[in-house]
Amino acid sequence: MSTRGVAILGSTGSIGCNTLRVIESLGSERFRIVALGAGRNVARLADQITQHQPELVSVDSEESAQKLKAELTTRNAWLPRIVIGEAGLVEVATHDRADYVVSGTVGAVGFVPTLRALETGKRVALANKETLVMAGELMTCAAEKSGAELLPVDSEHNALHQCLRGEKRSEVRRIILTASGGPFRTRDKASIQNATVAEAMRHPTWNMGAKITIDSATLMNKGLEVIEAHWLFGFGVEEISIVVHPESVIHSMIELIDGSVIAQMGVTDMRHAIQYALTYPERCTSELPPLDLAKLSSLRFEAPDEERFPCISLAYRALKTGGTLPAAMNAANEEAVQAFIDERISLPDIPRIIERVMNQHRTSAVKDLDTVLEADRSARVAAQAAIHELAQEFRVLGVA
Ligand code: MG
Repeated sequence: MSTRGVAILGSTGSIGCNTLRVIESLGSERFRIVALGAGRNVARLADQITQHQPELVSVDSEESAQKLKAELTTRNAWLPRIVIGEAGLVEVATHDRADYVVSGTVGAVGFVPTLRALETGKRVALANKETLVMAGELMTCAAEKSGAELLPVDSEHNALHQCLRGEKRSEVRRIILTASGGPFRTRDKASIQNATVAEAMRHPTWNMGAKITIDSATLMNKGLEVIEAHWLFGFGVEEISIVVHPESVIHSMIELIDGSVIAQMGVTDMRHAIQYALTYPERCTSELPPLDLAKLSSLRFEAPDEERFPCISLAYRALKTGGTLPAAMNAANEEAVQAFIDERISLPDIPRIIERVMNQHRTSAVKDLDTVLEADRSARVAAQAAIHELAQEFRVLGVA
């Protein structure tokens, strides 16, 4: 068995830390960490460097690089080459000795590095769904050209990948993404209006980073996943459905033309999907506890409520229109989510802002990287204007 070199984009985040746990459990003969990309969590990165001794690491800025160097010198630890910024993250993503790249950064930051990894023919284990939402066409074309494999780490898409193994595309009628429904699944419109950041951060079944947890509360996460599924598996808008499944035991399903439904079930732990993406097409024993079926008293299913959660229809609309609209939607969502976390706007303001930006956006075809980046940039400017306006109303309401 040859040892595979692995680079991680977003090594100190939730996906990054779980990837390192998986690699530690699978053993150093199978995988070796060659490069790590992080932001400014220098203390955690220093721990990871000490343990895995990568050749290259990237951080967000010169300041973080100096801090990291000082920390490693104090510890008398392994000192890798340190690079900074987006160019640094691209170096991590395209490192010579990396066979596999785990793309675990949040939001638009990972976009260019992930694209470069695909262009250089690496297997990409993709957790960063925003990259496919922004420019699925560019990503999938790059992979096709270089022969790079794109394996989903997002639990729903990982489940779909498993369900679709061995099935003929022409025999699959539709794919069904499951959604937990988030913390506001049973709350009425009025109480969602007053939702606090702390309430939105309380995800019922998954433990994840801040941005994706807020996306799960608005159900935009599922909207993004519809677009992600389109690009990963080539299903059209009408062939992708969502069902709310509060227990999150079934990670997703496919329906075949004879009416048969195949589901993938498992414990809610990201390490399962990460390990699958790293070891595919092999399966390896896992240190995760098996699913205890006897302890599951019920599995419930509901239709998603698009009136309380308008982000779902916004995402379907973006996919249907195509071009640069999904990138604009994604950018507006990122800005709006940050404004909600900063307590400047209410939770229902998030879809309001996205809709305004989408209505203003002049959709064009995705020709190259620049068209996508320009759509992203202009949508952020438009989102900031909308946030500014709604933030003033929010303050007035808050005082009253
Ligand atoms: Mg998911």
